[in-house]
Amino acid sequence: MAACKAGFYEQTPCPRCGIVEQFIIPLEEAVYLECIRGHGRYEPYAGSGGTRPKPKQVVRGVEDLLEQEHRELYLCIRRVLAKDSLFNEQADTIGQINYFC
Ligand SMILES: [Zn+2]
Repeated sequence: MAACKAGFYEQTPCPRCGIVEQFIIPLEEAVYLECIRGHGRYEPYAGSGGTRPKPKQVVRGVEDLLEQEHRELYLCIRRVLAKDSLFNEQADTIGQINYFC
């Protein structure tokens, strides 16, 4: 995972339900946050109206979220799924992540 400045992964309450625990995924254009109840939202990076600095490494695909051995397994599964139209219809990273969850 990306090496980030301290505070990037600071937990903030979900604006819809108030739950603090959430997944924080730095994407190319914004940060995606999703609470454990599934309320997702995007926050712009600092300099574009947000507060979190853009990390040097961002998540461009599901494989960027995984450790090496899991990445290899994922890439193998992905090759098998390459013919699955439902997976391929997930145009963005969050859609592909949700496909597996
Ligand atoms: Zn929530």
